[in-house]
Amino acid sequence: MSSYSTPAIMLRKTDFGDYDLIITLFTLKEGKITVIAKSAKKSTKRFGGVLELFSALDVVYGTGRRKSLPVLQEAVLKHPFPSIRASVLKTAYASYWTELINEWMEDGQIEALLYQLFYHVLKELDAGASSGGALSILFQMRFMKMFGLAPNLRRCGTCRMDMENIKETTVMFNLAKGGIICNRCAVESGRKFVLTKGIVKQLLWIEKENLEQAARIRLDSEAIKVGEELLEAFVPFHLGKDLRSLKFLRQIRK
Ligand SMILES: [Zn+2]
Repeated sequence: MSSYSTPAIMLRKTDFGDYDLIITLFTLKEGKITVIAKSAKKSTKRFGGVLELFSALDVVYGTGRRKSLPVLQEAVLKHPFPSIRASVLKTAYASYWTELINEWMEDGQIEALLYQLFYHVLKELDAGASSGGALSILFQMRFMKMFGLAPNLRRCGTCRMDMENIKETTVMFNLAKGGIICNRCAVESGRKFVLTKGIVKQLLWIEKENLEQAARIRLDSEAIKVGEELLEAFVPFHLGKDLRSLKFLRQIRK
């Protein structure tokens, strides 16, 4: 049996029989993995009650025979993110980011930068220094960029005119085209969003700034409202996935 140890964040937990839990973890060193936590359900003492959603852990697990799930051996709590668990709205944001990772990542696909981003937004959400909306925009923009699916916010997707040279104060955002369209070109069908150039600049800034600074950005309330609406349409559209947690988030935010 080989053993692995890695930092990990819990993505999912399901019952397995009367005694065990099946747990999906996003790990720093091994990517997304699913393990069995034996007797974790029967006795909370077995893992000290640390196996909770979104918790940041240091885990040790062992792989044995082929086709059998790796077995969780140890889990040490690094950060419980208690204020996320205490707030329905924060839980809804964390659930959305968790579902994005769980749905999009293949088993064993290692993405250290995504791990750092995920840990960072959970930590900031827990601390409450930035709003859930601003953090969610940060997470979605960078998540899409990592996989080469970032929205095009720099030039018109049709005539290619640079955003800086567009005279109007607003541009359209076309979902299917995956980016902005100047008003002169914006005659095509499809769902559209109107963005001010100021909002476009704030979205670009949050995408390129270093993580610590970007998380503390004070997006204005209009930019958060429009940015969330836009990205929560853009992300499922381009990933080709229907995200259940997004419906919950929209209900809670009302
Ligand atoms: Zn154009």
